[in-house]
Amino acid sequence: MGPSTPLSLRLRLTLLTGLLTGGTLLLFALVFYLVLRGSLHREIDARLRERAALLSRAVAASGSAGSAPSLPAPAPVVEFASPGIYAELIAPDGTVRAASANLPPGQLPAALAVLSGARAGQATSGTATVGGAEQLRLLAVPVSHPPGSVLLVAESLEPVERTLQRARSLLLAGGGLGLALALGGTTLLTGRALGPIGRLTQTAAEIAATGEYRMRVPRPPRYDEVGRLAATINDLIATVERTLEQQRQFVADTSHELRSPLTVVLANLDLLRRDLDAPDRELSLGEATAEAQRMRRLVNDLLLLAQADAREAIAYAPVRLDRLIEETVAMAARQTPEHNLRAYVDAPVVVAGDEERLRQLLRNLLENATRHTLPGTTVTVRLRRTSELAQLVVADTGPGIRQAHLPHIWDRFYRVDKARSRAAGGTGLGLAIVKYIAEAHGGSASVTSEEGKGTTFTIVLPLALDDRWNGGPTAARRGEAARQMGLDRR
Ligand code: ATP
Ligand code: MG
Repeated sequence: MGPSTPLSLRLRLTLLTGLLTGGTLLLFALVFYLVLRGSLHREIDARLRERAALLSRAVAASGSAGSAPSLPAPAPVVEFASPGIYAELIAPDGTVRAASANLPPGQLPAALAVLSGARAGQATSGTATVGGAEQLRLLAVPVSHPPGSVLLVAESLEPVERTLQRARSLLLAGGGLGLALALGGTTLLTGRALGPIGRLTQTAAEIAATGEYRMRVPRPPRYDEVGRLAATINDLIATVERTLEQQRQFVADTSHELRSPLTVVLANLDLLRRDLDAPDRELSLGEATAEAQRMRRLVNDLLLLAQADAREAIAYAPVRLDRLIEETVAMAARQTPEHNLRAYVDAPVVVAGDEERLRQLLRNLLENATRHTLPGTTVTVRLRRTSELAQLVVADTGPGIRQAHLPHIWDRFYRVDKARSRAAGGTGLGLAIVKYIAEAHGGSASVTSEEGKGTTFTIVLPLALDDRWNGGPTAARRGEAARQMGLDRR
């Protein structure tokens, strides 16, 4: 939850749906009601006009026959077709001259506006109330005989009002039901859709609070958006768990590796405090120094791998790989005269990278080839160049590595024979560093090995892009650069 708690998504969705549905229903009901009322009223007006026309003709006919104008008794058929239509003939002085048979004379309330409209020669319609409750629709038409007379026809609005009343109740009930259904449906649906998110948030918060990274958020049954979110969060938690576990393992391994040299150094310091004779003293000092050096190497290796973890960029500069190999192999041969080290390097090969790191890569491989094989073993280092790649192969004819171990030898602190390897001073970081250096240069490291026959490590590095360093067509023009690189000395 955030610092301020806004309306929940669920409430907002429900309110929005309610507003939209309610608004739509209201608009629909209003339009429907107005159209219905209008058409019912127009129907009445049409009936009144029809009746008025019929009656005016009858009045005119009776007037022209010389007798006093009168309203004929409505024919039953007309009465049936339009029941409840009343009529009055009103003289210019306002007296009722005649009335339809269904009406005692003088019963129709002659609304003044209607009458004066008709007297001015205009058929005029209007609405009036009888007896304080019943509504009447009126139509007044001028009649020429006797001049100034008005024919008033009227129909009760009662049936229309009843229909409209029923329509109102129906619309109200229907609208209410529709709104309730929409609100209920939205609440239910959002509840079902958002419920898993709530549980997900709760579990994730619990994991964050307790650090219990073995837990996983619940997976909703369907693999929809929420399902995918849950799966992604679980992947994330798994990654965190794995990283923490690796970290823990790494710290444990490191402490373990540092403990034994420290113990040796401390034990020797203890010995040195006593009165030792010169040879023993020398021995103790030598042992303590060797262990301290081992610790220094371990710490250096760890620092390098920490840089690898931080994906620190390496420095790029042209490196004469062929010369680097010759120098490093020559030095290793001096240090381990009991092994036969041979270097086969063909053309000048230049890669872009960090010379010191590349030297360390080769040193680690050579050290493995001498440390993990018996004296007298031959170790061959070969450098080949293709159009784009430099291939460095370090092969020995030692005991080899069993297939089951091969995928793991690149892991930190992994040693095939722990006891023997540690006794030989190894910590299992050498190949992890080789792999990191190769990959940081855009290359790769791989191994093949056959038990009893030997082991071959292959490092592939991309050549420096600029062909002036690798004898390409522009090399001649770049003589100066080549000279600087020392290419002209060969
Ligand atoms: P470190 O290099 O950190 O001092 P290490 O040599 O034991 O220690 P790696 O260089 O990473 O560690 O090698 C891992 C393991 O692979 C070694 O312990 C060894 O068992 C095996 N190994 C590596 N190179 C060879 C080889 N040329 N022949 C046989 N086994 C090898
Ligand atoms: Mg090693």
